Amino acid sequence: MIIISIDGTAGSGKSTTARLVAQKLGFLYIDTGAMYRAATLIVLTSDVDPHDKNSVTKLVHDSDISLVNNKGELKVLVNKIDVTKDIRSPKVTGFVSLISSYRRVREYLVGLQRAMAENNNVVCEGRDIGTVVFPNADIKIYIDCSLEERAKRRLLDLKRAQVNTNLEKVKQELERRDKMDSKREFSPLRIPECAEIIDTTNLKIEEQVERVLDLIHSLEGV
Ligand code: C5P
Repeated sequence: MIIISIDGTAGSGKSTTARLVAQKLGFLYIDTGAMYRAATLIVLTSDVDPHDKNSVTKLVHDSDISLVNNKGELKVLVNKIDVTKDIRSPKVTGFVSLISSYRRVREYLVGLQRAMAENNNVVCEGRDIGTVVFPNADIKIYIDCSLEERAKRRLLDLKRAQVNTNLEKVKQELERRDKMDSKREFSPLRIPECAEIIDTTNLKIEEQVERVLDLIHSLEGV
């Protein structure tokens, strides 16, 4: 089975690139950020305090989180209910770095991620994929992009989703999340050893996809 890992900062274009690459190759796309967001939504829609690590861990372990690839679209299910839209709310975004800093929440989700790759070729995207989840991935990619450009792109997405915000707020939120994700104790965001670094600041989506596909095609038999 072939494993492509893609890590990088928030809003760097990882998800879109990973999804399109997976579609082109017929690989399974694993959006691990969506799984941490689903875990966060579970907490925020319960009466558990997000700061109560033990109760959060138990609640998440008792829940069924799954990703379903449906005709090229990824659906996120919690206890079989479609939460694909709900996990993108600003409230979930605000709490996700806290919930994902809990070691046993991570262990649970990493187990699910590895199970998905057992019988599939995968493109798996997140923060700890090449370092922790699949340290033996066939190709490791780290995607980065300037904060200014990431904020501009994220603002466009949010405007389309009719979220009322501005560039400065979006910038601060991205910066806050990157800081928490790279400074946390367990599985912090890092550039994996031997990773190919792609800076997408001046790249269009098609160019990002092309770069990744070129790397993958350098593997024998793909
Ligand atoms: O990829 P996305 O921005 O949707 O991820 C949301 C959050 O989930 C990240 O900011 C991070 O806190 C967490 N995450 C993580 N490890 C991953 C993927 C995402 O901690 N592998």
